Amino acid sequence: MTSTHVSPSPPRFCPHCGGHLSERLPATEERPRLVCDQCQRILYFNPRVVAGVIVARGGRLLLLRRAIEPRRGTWTFPAGYMEIDETAEQAAAREAEEEVGLKVKAGPLVGVYSRPVPESPGVLVVVFQGQQPRGRVKIGCEVLEARWFAPDDIPWDDLSFDTTHWALRDWLRARHDRRRRRPQRAARLFPPRRGG
Ligand SMILES: [Zn+2]
Repeated sequence: MTSTHVSPSPPRFCPHCGGHLSERLPATEERPRLVCDQCQRILYFNPRVVAGVIVARGGRLLLLRRAIEPRRGTWTFPAGYMEIDETAEQAAAREAEEEVGLKVKAGPLVGVYSRPVPESPGVLVVVFQGQQPRGRVKIGCEVLEARWFAPDDIPWDDLSFDTTHWALRDWLRARHDRRRRRPQRAARLFPPRRGG
């Protein structure tokens, strides 16, 4: 049986009791689910959470080229699946250290992006700014190379995912806004001298 509602290759046995799973429409649900014939538990499929971080230094931001599928060879920022015992900020900071060797403080938030993928688990991507990067870039085993890009040189046609594109777009917008606000703040702190 192929299922279009729960997963392309749904598990056949219940993770709780080992009973057989079948696709049914329980009275409490509004879409078909995998239900255990034995213990009647429902096995849900939900998006997985990815945490990522955009690290900038000297006006340039750090992107890496993926050494693993999917989208091997394309560019993105450090990101990966959250572990069960982490906050999103901790996961993002850990990914930066694992993938590019930098210690960063993750936050504030750049944005939250979702990518529904019917034929595989969708993802919810939580992206932070990476503050106060420390250390030297040293790539991990899932990375082909890492490089600092000026905003004008971001390889838009060669990014890994839609979520990568959206997060970089929002990061640039926020950067633009920060820059526009800066002269006004400076003007308040240092009012222009008037001659005469
Ligand atoms: Zn069961």
